Amino acid sequence: MDSCLFCRIAAGEIPVTKVHEDDDLLAFRDINPQAPMHVLVIPKVHIATVNDLTPAHEALVGAMVRCAAQVAKDHGFDASGYRTVFNCNAAAGQTVFHIHLHVLGGRTLRWPPG
Ligand code: AMP
Ligand code: ZN
Repeated sequence: MDSCLFCRIAAGEIPVTKVHEDDDLLAFRDINPQAPMHVLVIPKVHIATVNDLTPAHEALVGAMVRCAAQVAKDHGFDASGYRTVFNCNAAAGQTVFHIHLHVLGGRTLRWPPG
């Protein structure tokens, strides 16, 4: 999708600080980090929101979650803890309509979130 920011990032058209890349996924540092570690894990295919997931996406979403866990482990936060978040649509604050899994760690994260 030409107009989608994260499709353009996945295509290499916009520079990001990558922390992982494979055939299906890209993980990169958030431009406006909300914690010492704030990484976004995206699929390379365009999926607008979590509402648009189908059974065909199950392996892809599983890979996203496992990628997030590996990113957290690589930063040394696997034992101490970290948070993974999918925001969906306006009330949750989704601003980029290409699904992305936030991976946050390195500080104490309050619950419930704001
Ligand atoms: P959300 O509000 O859940 O849609 O999250 C979108 C995230 O994308 C925000 O945390 C932004 O800071 C982040 N973001 C937007 N543009 C870029 C960019 N060019 N590179 C890295 N992260 C970005
Ligand atoms: Zn996209």
